Amino acid sequence: MRVGIIGGGAAGLAAAYELTKQGHYAGVFEQAPFLGGQASTFPVGGGQLERGYHHLFVSDTDIVDLIHEIGLGHRMAWLESKVGLYNSGQIWRFSTPMDLLRFTPLSLIQRFRVGFWTFLMQKTKDWRKFEGVTAKDWIISHMSQEAYQVIWEPLLRGKFGEYYDQISMTWLWGKIYLRVASRGKSLQKERLGYPMGSFGEVFDVLAQRIEQQGGNVHIKAGVEQITVEDGAATGLSVHIGDGGTQSKDFDAVIATTPSYIFPRLAPSLPQEYLDRLAATKYLSAVLIILVLDRPLSSMYWMNIADPDLPFVGVIEHTNMIDKSLYGDNHIVYVTNYLSRESELYQMTQEELLAAYVPHLKKINPDFDESWIIEYHYHKVDGAQPIIGLNYSQQIPDHRTPIKNLYLANTTQIYPEDRGTNYSVRMGRQVARMVLEDLG
Ligand SMILES: Cc1cc2nc3c(=O)[nH]c(=O)nc-3n(C[C@H](O)[C@H](O)[C@H](O)COP(=O)(O)OP(=O)(O)OC[C@H]3O[C@@H](n4cnc5c(N)ncnc54)[C@H](O)[C@@H]3O)c2cc1C
Repeated sequence: MRVGIIGGGAAGLAAAYELTKQGHYAGVFEQAPFLGGQASTFPVGGGQLERGYHHLFVSDTDIVDLIHEIGLGHRMAWLESKVGLYNSGQIWRFSTPMDLLRFTPLSLIQRFRVGFWTFLMQKTKDWRKFEGVTAKDWIISHMSQEAYQVIWEPLLRGKFGEYYDQISMTWLWGKIYLRVASRGKSLQKERLGYPMGSFGEVFDVLAQRIEQQGGNVHIKAGVEQITVEDGAATGLSVHIGDGGTQSKDFDAVIATTPSYIFPRLAPSLPQEYLDRLAATKYLSAVLIILVLDRPLSSMYWMNIADPDLPFVGVIEHTNMIDKSLYGDNHIVYVTNYLSRESELYQMTQEELLAAYVPHLKKINPDFDESWIIEYHYHKVDGAQPIIGLNYSQQIPDHRTPIKNLYLANTTQIYPEDRGTNYSVRMGRQVARMVLEDLG
């Protein structure tokens, strides 16, 4: 069987790996000049760095198994993470229950309430009971208005911008429930995983394995149209490199593009399916990556719980990963999730950096612009699907109404939040679905 795959990110490559492993042909077409999609890398200080910060949790077994399967298990490192929260002009450690107890911006009784409900959430497997309630309402009624305003609202605003009060409690459940699995026994420190050759190495080696198993992986190959004949997908029109558009025949097609791109490629989709695709909105990730000659803070991951700062997270990659991988430079991501209409999204990189710099001095009063050796700017559209109430009812099926045409994108990952692990799991599952249907 011959399967055409649109997109060379985690989902597309995992699907192609599974298909070729089972003896079928897969052709992957990625429009960018590199693989990895949202988890792709670029060169910094002699190493490869993700455009957006990336790590793995202990619970991310699908991608870790795949990394081992393709021979890169020795590259996986599990490292202690230092998590902090910036609030009231101060950086608070926020990794363990003891850190919560020391968090004085909340009254002692509120700290206990947050701890109690967070603990219960970690023990709750049934996410369906949270589907019909927003995180905001649930937290206010179980923890308190104060806890919501001090800790949770800034975090929800950070991840979902203007949609912060519409997010389902199921999303927050997923974050809390899965996060604890990265901690082992409840009071232990969290360990996070990172493939030391970068996520870019994982995708490059995965592509090599696909080719060794008889498939093909093309970059600079933008799919313009899915060919549909008699209601069934039969191929792709692809613009490869500097050449013209080529037609490729396939028995089935798997698209891993965001939902807002998919209808352009398959215009004959029926209205009901188009409505489902349109129901999920996304935010974009906007990242400034600072390459510094010295550290900014001592934290790896810092949530910003202060609406006066114009960014929502500061992730100091080299506080977890050895700086020698990047020419001994210190790497700091300053991050935001934004709608495309927002003012910050529309700023140039120079304007954005100028807007951020005075606030970086709040994180570290000694910080000076002269510490910046170079900086990089990346925008990732379609980065975060908005997970509203009763989200399970709006997810489009992997099997589309067009025969032999499948969709596998991040809006279909639920109740977990999207991540490379779940894209790998979904890619392999949809590949098996194709084989079941056509085999
Ligand atoms: C800032 C940020 C931080 C993140 N941090 C983490 C983390 O710490 N850990 C983690 O596990 N996950 C993290 N994620 C999420 C993770 O990166 C994604 O969930 C995952 O990579 C999605 O993979 P995918 O293959 O489903 O989609 P994508 O990576 O979006 O891949 C889709 C691909 O399709 C291509 N494409 C689109 N249209 C066409 C076309 N017409 N023709 C050809 N190709 C096309 C795109 O170029 C893209 O490469 C993060 C994401 C962001 C943005």
